[in-house]
Amino acid sequence: MKKSSCWQLLWIVALCLWLIPSLTFAASMRKVTSFQSQVVTEGRQRFLRIEIGMNGPINDYEVKGDGILNPNRLTIDVDQAEKGDVRTEILLDRQFAKTLRFQDTGKKLRIMVGMQVPAADRNYRVYTLEKDRRAGKPHRLIIELYGEGGRRGHVAGLKGRTIVIDPGHGGSDTGAVGVGGLREKDVTLEVSKKVRDILENSGVTVVMTREDDRDVYGPTATDAQELQARVNYGSYTPNVDVFLSIHCNAYTSASSNGTETYYYPKTWLDGLLAQNLQAGMIQHGDRRDRGVHEARFYVCRHSTMPAALVELAFITNYVEGNLLADEDFQDEMAQGIAEGLANYFAASGT
Ligand SMILES: [Zn+2]
Repeated sequence: MKKSSCWQLLWIVALCLWLIPSLTFAASMRKVTSFQSQVVTEGRQRFLRIEIGMNGPINDYEVKGDGILNPNRLTIDVDQAEKGDVRTEILLDRQFAKTLRFQDTGKKLRIMVGMQVPAADRNYRVYTLEKDRRAGKPHRLIIELYGEGGRRGHVAGLKGRTIVIDPGHGGSDTGAVGVGGLREKDVTLEVSKKVRDILENSGVTVVMTREDDRDVYGPTATDAQELQARVNYGSYTPNVDVFLSIHCNAYTSASSNGTETYYYPKTWLDGLLAQNLQAGMIQHGDRRDRGVHEARFYVCRHSTMPAALVELAFITNYVEGNLLADEDFQDEMAQGIAEGLANYFAASGT
């Protein structure tokens, strides 16, 4: 090959190397195609939902509060995206946020939201939704703003923890049966799931000993086998911070009522955990405070980490049986337990 044609070939190769990535890059740039914002009420939660439609899947984005200089600003950088034809600045509802601004920074689309309160984990949520052909919705970036009260079902101070939740009884073991045939195993599962959801929303890794109506070991197990099977979830999961068993109380006298918490004092942390759980439940459930008690309950004694067993209320009491079946009360108790856990971590210094 002649020297000149060799150079020509090199040039062509170089040109291709330069062109191919920039062409594919241009093709993969997302554009904003729609914008929508509205105040939404879900249950007892009111919030502003912002939907930013894009003409392709949203690959990656980064969310940050702007810290000291601009505490009320929430910034979201979307990779490989640009503003498209939407307006640069959009006025929002003013209750949750003032404005939203778009800024192209080359490879990224920067979205800046001027919130009415300092941007903190508890008062915003950002996530993506895939294209939904049936609903006629494009790929979307969703920003939810919750205002001063924060997001229900989010508790600060729990991020990074690992917690085992043990819904008492299940399967062949009904637990106590109360008012109107209400079964303890059903209530403990419902409340446990609500606690799980709050904890997961708050950045906790949750392990459930059961997630449906079943025996954990098996229907023919002895009590010790069944309870050890629950304890094992704590032993075999790395770095578990707390083992929490959820039960309902029962008594032969229908007048017995109130909330209480049990622990086995294998370390000083067990009692501290019980006290904080009890305080959280009393604050939110507003039942009579029966206090915390030491007991030799299997799951508390054999767990290798701080453990507690909560008795939400009396399933055999008319008023409390009805409360235990009521979703609002279940929500409150779950919130109280989650806050109790956060307060325990703060107090324990662990
Ligand atoms: Zn029980």
